[in-house]
Amino acid sequence: MAYAAGMRDPRLEDFIAAHRRLFVLTGAGCSTGSGIPDYRDEQGAWKRTPPVTYQAFVGDVATRQRYWARSLLGWPRIAQARPNRAHRALAALETQGHCEQLLTQNVDGLHQAAGSRAVIDLHGRLDDVVCLGCGTRSSRARLQDRLVEANAGWAGLVAAAAPDGDADLEGRDFTAFDVPTCDVCGGMLKPDVVFFGENVPRERVQTAMAHLARADAMLVVGSSLMVYSGLRFVHAAVRDSKPVAAVNLGRTRADDLLRFRVAAPCGDALAFLLDADGRRGVTPPAIAS
Ligand SMILES: [Zn+2]
Repeated sequence: MAYAAGMRDPRLEDFIAAHRRLFVLTGAGCSTGSGIPDYRDEQGAWKRTPPVTYQAFVGDVATRQRYWARSLLGWPRIAQARPNRAHRALAALETQGHCEQLLTQNVDGLHQAAGSRAVIDLHGRLDDVVCLGCGTRSSRARLQDRLVEANAGWAGLVAAAAPDGDADLEGRDFTAFDVPTCDVCGGMLKPDVVFFGENVPRERVQTAMAHLARADAMLVVGSSLMVYSGLRFVHAAVRDSKPVAAVNLGRTRADDLLRFRVAAPCGDALAFLLDADGRRGVTPPAIAS
């Protein structure tokens, strides 16, 4: 059934009303309304070239040059992105006392920007940079200054936004791109996000699982669950006989395990939480691009 804007789904409202300790898992579908593209179509298939793997990033200087050149152009859009109605609705869910924990697969920090406090960034944060040599962490904003300074002219190029702070920049000679190294030890810098082919830190998974164990139900918002790092939480919830529901436009890899799936944009489906909280679900101005 098509989901008309403004239509309320009683299943979702009942599910949230019935469970006071929800474990919420969010994905890219939460942030598309903030101008951050996602990787997958409604069938859960890749819309575009799959992202760089950890192995290629650390193993190949040309891959790092291409990655950081594209990131130089893609970062400002992430830095300027603002939370949308879906983020604000989930922050309201926490305020209303229904959220045991929010676990996000997104790396954009928009849940925290919307006011959610109980957030675990499963795949890290794009606004942090880590040195693979000495472990020193630094800010992506500062690295942006270094990238721009070291690569005159690149910041003026125009490229379409791509997922995870990437930008579609091709047909360039990346061999001249100067990739900054760690200030402290000269080591290799990497965004502090979990790349494809890389494992989520074990303690982070354990902390999230402990919250899931305390929850009475699980709600998936804006994820197709195609990646095992997220899917395993649905499996754990089902093993524990906790009901799982989802809000996602397209199919998910766990559709057969769900009580129901609301096939609607996240912000539309969750807007009733903003109404209940006395705040109106007004979409903020479009992000300048
Ligand atoms: Zn270092």
